[in-house]
Amino acid sequence: MKTVSDYFGSMVFDDRVMKATLSAKVYSSLKKTIAEGAELDPSVADAVAVAMKDWAVAKGATHFTHWFQPLTGITAEKHDGFIAPSPDGGVIMEFSGKELIKGEPDASSFPSGGLRATFEARGYTAWDPTSYAFIKGKTLCIPTAFCSYGGHALDKKTPLLRSMEALNRQALRILKLFGNDTAKRVVSSVGPEQEYFLITKEMYDARPDLRFCGRTLFGAKPPKGQEMDDHYFGAIKPKVAAFMEELNEELWKLGIMAKTEHNEVAPCQHELAPIYTTTNIATDHNQLTMEMMQKVAARHGLVCLLHEKPFAGVNGSGKHNNWSIATDDGQNLLSPGETPYENAQFLLFLCAVIKAVDDYQDLLRISVATAGNDHRLGANEAPPAVISMFLGDELGGVLDAIESDTPYTGAQKTQMRLGVDVLPKFNRDTTDRNRTSPFAFTGNKFEFRMLGSSNSIACANIMLNSAVAESLKIFADRLEGAADFESELHDMIRETIKDHKRIIFNGNGYDDAWIKEATEVRGLCNYRTTPDCMPHLLDKKNVDMLTSHKVFTVDELRSRCEIMLENYCKTVTIEANTMVDMARTLIAPAVASFAASVAKNAQSKRDFDSSVPCEYEKKLVKKLSVLADCISAKTDDLQSAIIAVRDAGDIISESEAIRDTVLPAMCELRIACDEAETLTAKSSWPFPTYADILFSVR
Ligand code: ADP
Ligand code: MG
Repeated sequence: MKTVSDYFGSMVFDDRVMKATLSAKVYSSLKKTIAEGAELDPSVADAVAVAMKDWAVAKGATHFTHWFQPLTGITAEKHDGFIAPSPDGGVIMEFSGKELIKGEPDASSFPSGGLRATFEARGYTAWDPTSYAFIKGKTLCIPTAFCSYGGHALDKKTPLLRSMEALNRQALRILKLFGNDTAKRVVSSVGPEQEYFLITKEMYDARPDLRFCGRTLFGAKPPKGQEMDDHYFGAIKPKVAAFMEELNEELWKLGIMAKTEHNEVAPCQHELAPIYTTTNIATDHNQLTMEMMQKVAARHGLVCLLHEKPFAGVNGSGKHNNWSIATDDGQNLLSPGETPYENAQFLLFLCAVIKAVDDYQDLLRISVATAGNDHRLGANEAPPAVISMFLGDELGGVLDAIESDTPYTGAQKTQMRLGVDVLPKFNRDTTDRNRTSPFAFTGNKFEFRMLGSSNSIACANIMLNSAVAESLKIFADRLEGAADFESELHDMIRETIKDHKRIIFNGNGYDDAWIKEATEVRGLCNYRTTPDCMPHLLDKKNVDMLTSHKVFTVDELRSRCEIMLENYCKTVTIEANTMVDMARTLIAPAVASFAASVAKNAQSKRDFDSSVPCEYEKKLVKKLSVLADCISAKTDDLQSAIIAVRDAGDIISESEAIRDTVLPAMCELRIACDEAETLTAKSSWPFPTYADILFSVR
């Protein structure tokens, strides 16, 4: 029998394959590029291309593609064959270093937010040697960055790589100050926990809203939802187990360390978590995981829903971004360590994150903002739209003691003087089980929990890396000039705690009182929707920070803001149009004809015996008729709202109009339709109900 280790990574051109297929010289040159970001020698590229092609062809690949992540949110690929004519009339399989390094897809069909003039349709893709190439189906996929011809980033990978570089640069300065001269690189790592729903294809096909929007736009509450809490960690159903087994196999072949899987809170909701890896690779892997989930589901007669809120009244799906930073020699910089020297360094990195999250709350909120995720944040199931940090009582106590220069009264009674004292040993299990915090310290990493299930994790990590790089830069500037390193460090940490402790909150994030305190007393941001937060991407402080670390140019930021808002407007408009269509062509006719059939029944009863009262029918027909009228009126209102938005003017006003007029009109239409559903015979309802969908997978 084949074991996992036999096929793990079998479809990846990974280090093992490189070592086996490249000459020692080419291998070490490529490794240098990967490990240290050194520039790649063109002759090396040619040698790598040949080895890659031979390896891929031997595994049955016929095509190659530059695989990239445009701003659409999904991945893109354009396949080219390896074949080239040979003089004898046959074919040979060819692939050059030039083709490996650079591609020129037509950029005009990808969003650019005004970055690409129409005459400049060409864009180019550039090989990212830090993420391994892999085979999907019969195609060799080469992870690439995607830029406009003028060099502007049109994708998510480019700024992510730039943010990792910024973090590396600043973190190394700090390490040097602590006497660490051996670390060559500091890398951020991520383990994203991915939630998703599985439903049967039959149910999916029967619902236009699921097909067009990925979420239900109508649906009365089912008699049973998630209230029994009997799904979470419950036994996995056979069909789901078969899906998970095959998914794991596919992911393992792609070198993705899928590790944990379990049921989630809502019926038919599940979660998958991989073992963490470098942010860049974790991002590529998460995109591939989402793609594979959908592919494998289809093979099992299922559909995988990655939408943040597929069903109203049932928990939505998110993604937890477990983030840490470590040196190339394996030191986790967020691990409290055991000696005073390590503790002081840990406290500095901890403070850098605290400062970053407080100073750039808005950027973190923006990084997870989509129309879909707006349904989750603040809806008493996901973290609120207000960002705060959970540190736990122990670490919180240590920071309090440092801030006030009073003895720490936790496990030991010690006066915290950095560089001298040993931090109390943290019991990892006591640090976190606070599930309501958007940003929690979990022993040796931070867990950012606001991401939506369909979000690329690139955006959140770009902002996180950049904001922490900025804190570290400010710290390094100060410490490098200090006369007395230890006392400067002590003062700096104290000041940072004092200045930024408003962001620390260990209580219940779902509590209304917290939102009030956060916004009114602490002055934290509360951007409830995408149109509320997105324009702040262009606030001066944000532009200054992101451009100074060379993560984005001003033009790239402007274009991203526009694309994200456009995305929001398009998403909601498609949903609104789908609602209008379903209400007019499915729901209203169903309600009307059911009312007519009830009336007809009553009439036939009367014909049979004119003295029967028919109270049930009379009442029902009346109610249904009123509802049908209401549905018709609300549909017209929604339609008018959609039309009115077209005149809003610029994209910010358009998104605001959608938030203020279209979304409320959608809500009202839904209320009328959902009520009609509860009064209409099941056999007359035009599509599957929540109960049908949620309990369809066995
Ligand atoms: P949870 O209790 O939230 O399930 P786990 O400890 O199981 O937390 O980890 C969840 C995710 O965090 C996994 O993807 C795991 O690989 C990742 N993770 C663990 N340690 C780190 C770390 N140091 N840096 C980044 N991610 C990590
Ligand atoms: Mg978690």
